[in-house]
Amino acid sequence: MKSIPQTAESEFLELLSKADEGLPGNLVGALECLDQAERLLANQVDACAALRLRLLRAIAGIYGTEPLQGLAELYRVRADLFDGVDLKLRSRAERGLANAHEVLGTYETALLHAQAARDWAEQAGDELEQLHGLRCSAILLSRLGRPEEGLKIYQQLAQAYERLDLPHARVAVLNNIGINLKNLGRFDESVHSYEAALALMQAIGDLGRQSFVRLNLAEALCKAGRCEEALALLDELAASAQLNLGSYTQAQMLRERGLVLWRLQRQDEALQCWREGAEITRGAGLRGLLSELLKELANGLQTRTQYQEALTCHQEAVALDKALFDERGRQQLNALQVQLELQSARHEAEVHRLRHVELSGAHEELRRLNTALEQALAEKDQLLQQLEARSRTDALTGLANRRHLDERLQMECERSARYGHGLVLAVLDIDHFKSINDRWGHVLGDEVLRQVAQLLSSNCRSTDLVARYGGEEFCLLFVESDLASAQAAVQLLCADVRAHGWASLVPDLRVRLSGGLALLQSGEAAVALLQRADQALYQAKAEGRDRVLCSLPA
Ligand code: GH3
Ligand code: MG
Ligand code: MG
Repeated sequence: MKSIPQTAESEFLELLSKADEGLPGNLVGALECLDQAERLLANQVDACAALRLRLLRAIAGIYGTEPLQGLAELYRVRADLFDGVDLKLRSRAERGLANAHEVLGTYETALLHAQAARDWAEQAGDELEQLHGLRCSAILLSRLGRPEEGLKIYQQLAQAYERLDLPHARVAVLNNIGINLKNLGRFDESVHSYEAALALMQAIGDLGRQSFVRLNLAEALCKAGRCEEALALLDELAASAQLNLGSYTQAQMLRERGLVLWRLQRQDEALQCWREGAEITRGAGLRGLLSELLKELANGLQTRTQYQEALTCHQEAVALDKALFDERGRQQLNALQVQLELQSARHEAEVHRLRHVELSGAHEELRRLNTALEQALAEKDQLLQQLEARSRTDALTGLANRRHLDERLQMECERSARYGHGLVLAVLDIDHFKSINDRWGHVLGDEVLRQVAQLLSSNCRSTDLVARYGGEEFCLLFVESDLASAQAAVQLLCADVRAHGWASLVPDLRVRLSGGLALLQSGEAAVALLQRADQALYQAKAEGRDRVLCSLPA
């Protein structure tokens, strides 16, 4: 192995540091530095430096279009780190893995890598690297919905950055503190933190991310009820930034502006902002933000009784959410797959090596690898189970969905035929639900569905199945039961729903159910049972609703 000449080496290292600083904010710049470093390197490879180059390239890769390949390469680089490699590089590799899992949404795994990054940095005695790892953990804790813990770390970081005189890092952390305080509902303190960040930016002349912090500040001001100030800030921002805002910031600004205007009772202007924002995000393919804008629009339009358009927006948002959710699930599964494949490959290579080389402690090593492999397999199984459970659950109410009901109904019909147990199916439907939606909006309608679901499932036996059949219809499956006791149970449930404190949602709200029941007859198929229960429900509706009827066997 040759080493590169002194001057070239320092230039090379400088390029790597510059690339590292640019990640992930200035991806293009970072990649340019890496390319330049690679050219400089030519054939004169110093192994450590080459690994660092590969590492940074992989990290840049996770922020590009193929994050999974970046993740795979990171695992490979980590496997290639050898004993002479400095501890700081190990720390950076772990932090890179944490970043990759963050991008992929596997936050729990990311948190473990962030912890490992901090451990290596501590061993290396590198405080700055340790702080980077700490910051990484804080971001992940916030993403995992643990803002209190995140906040504590950020406050610790702010102090450390002040002590080390790193104002740029402190600005970023003050912004993070603002976000966490906002998420905890502490809006005044949040405002305070953003203002401190802005003041510091002014003082050090770092105005790069100013629009971003100002946008956050506007949001916090609005939430703190200081709408006029928020609006003034947004005006100022729009004027100063003029045309050079990216689509994302532009759309965020419109969303925020809409929220402020809405609170100021300037509803037409608010709707206009959200419409413009939706156009921008649709054009730029920013689906998450588009969904949020559409939801604001749907709620606003609903309040203005423009139901048709509200429904269209609501539906588009739901479709977007579903697509994003599915994609995310697939991506997370793929991430685990990558982890698993790499571990298996490493495992095989290791087994091969151990077979040929006499090594004391070989068994120990093999056992360790086996444990790691089993762990990865268990993680994958767990994720598969989670995905499987999700595909059988209704997202709105958390009840079993129709697919789950169909499977279980089929199974229970077979069991009943085999053992002669009584099986009763009840179909319940909320009365005049459409008018609840029309009068108070879909958001309230959704809340009614959730609460009805909650009442039904908490008052049923654990052996019975409660499912959302679709829309405002629910199915209950009573196993080992008879028609009379099932009917009594359903009547009690309907009474529970009737007596529930709906007035706490909106004063005039009343919720009533109609139900139809059927007992499985010998030789009857699941569809026929469902049809008869449905028929009884139809009859209950026809006789004036708010009642439960049983289907008489043919
Ligand atoms: P009936 O007493 O005859 O059952 O009258 P209804 O108004 O309850 O029945 P209809 O079938 O006319 O209307 C059902 C409404 O339920 C229409 C649909 O927009 C609404 N709906 C379906 N799924 C959802 C949902 O997930 N959320 C909300 N908020 N509404 C939904
Ligand atoms: Mg219905
Ligand atoms: Mg109904």
